[in-house]
Amino acid sequence: MNGFGTTAVRAPGAAGGEPGPATPVEVAVIGAGQAGLSAAYFLRRAGLRAGSGFVVLDHSPGPGGAWQYRWPSLTYAKAHGVHALPGMPLEGADPDLPSAQVVADYFRRYEETFDLWVRRPVDVTAVREDGGGRLRIESGQGAWSARALLNATGTWDRPFVPYYPGQETFQGRQLHTAGYRGAAEFAGRHVLVVGGGTSAVQLLMELGAPGGAARTTWVTRRPPVFRDMSFTEDWGRSVVALVEDRVRQGLPPQSVVSVTGLAATEAVLDAQARGILHREPMFARVTPHGVAWADGRTLEVDVILWATGFRAALDHLAPLRLREPGGGVRIEGTRVVKDPRIHLVGYGPSASTIGANRAGRTAVREIRALLDGRGSGALATGDAGQLAAMAAN
Ligand SMILES: Cc1cc2nc3c(=O)[nH]c(=O)nc-3n(C[C@H](O)[C@H](O)[C@H](O)COP(=O)(O)OP(=O)(O)OC[C@H]3O[C@@H](n4cnc5c(N)ncnc54)[C@H](O)[C@@H]3O)c2cc1C
Repeated sequence: MNGFGTTAVRAPGAAGGEPGPATPVEVAVIGAGQAGLSAAYFLRRAGLRAGSGFVVLDHSPGPGGAWQYRWPSLTYAKAHGVHALPGMPLEGADPDLPSAQVVADYFRRYEETFDLWVRRPVDVTAVREDGGGRLRIESGQGAWSARALLNATGTWDRPFVPYYPGQETFQGRQLHTAGYRGAAEFAGRHVLVVGGGTSAVQLLMELGAPGGAARTTWVTRRPPVFRDMSFTEDWGRSVVALVEDRVRQGLPPQSVVSVTGLAATEAVLDAQARGILHREPMFARVTPHGVAWADGRTLEVDVILWATGFRAALDHLAPLRLREPGGGVRIEGTRVVKDPRIHLVGYGPSASTIGANRAGRTAVREIRALLDGRGSGALATGDAGQLAAMAAN
């Protein structure tokens, strides 16, 4: 007995405004990145079958989660500690290959090895109540009716660009990190990089290398803090606790870098010594040819590169009204406080490759208990190892 007994599902509605047929499953997983695959692995270990017991839906064209979209110059060597998925090592990867390729190949092998049978491309457009305690997962490619949902949709689909006055008047090129493909296309250009996270630092280093941009300027809201990442377990735990505390209150997850600071790697120290990481405060507005600060200073640039992060891709959950007044979804561990049938994995404190693994295991344990009628199970706790991966992102 695996705790996931089969359940009859109501007959699909036939006519006039009634929802169409939905395939019954015990658990639906939306997203096949690190978090979704980890969850699927633990669902299998709990005795569920891919297809009839659980289904994994993903709208990307191939395996790899968001990694398949990462810019080609982000080689495996440049990624910060990509953690293997549970049950299968990630070894011997060529450090000079793009992370996009390394991770996509690894995920493909993983899906085959554990027979996870990911449905793609399936774009989930809405999740709503389905009666009888079930959730209806709707997509352009069909619908599923599940007793529980593991949402693992990451953030890549929701790049965030803050608004600054005059932004629409800029005559140069504006792009977000998500659209960056490499430094070569910025040759001869003055590029303004906006944002204080790890992506901004990585892009500045690439653009500042030979063959990159003619000039770079870096602006951030707060002065960046670089720190040696050799921290203690206790310190690590306290930082993860801070991130967890926000989601527990229903506030949007905070960037981990805002709590930990940026990793002062050798490459970063070298870039600092070469003046590539000199930072200016945030400008007040965008002009047709650049930006202007509140004190009257102006700067002409050709390109504004917004390395301003991502938000959780949760729009398809809107019909369930999970958001709190603070703008986030309140979760305990991975479980949505308002609806214990739903777990958010890879969200907030579990938004790293190692955190996503852990979240998958915790969520499946709780869902198993829920479907078994044993309540919600134990909560996830972070640790310093998890923090290390998160701090790197
Ligand atoms: C530039 C960058 C570099 C990073 N480097 C590192 C690193 O070195 N080490 C590290 O540990 N972490 C790193 N991270 C963070 C890490 O990538 C993530 O925390 C982790 O891989 C995310 O896994 P995930 O499964 O939560 O999300 P994702 O990998 O984003 O997977 C989500 C999946 O959900 C699918 N999806 C989304 N919406 C829908 C929908 N409506 N319907 C169907 N499918 C949907 C997407 O197609 C995607 O396949 C980095 C992040 C970024 C942005």
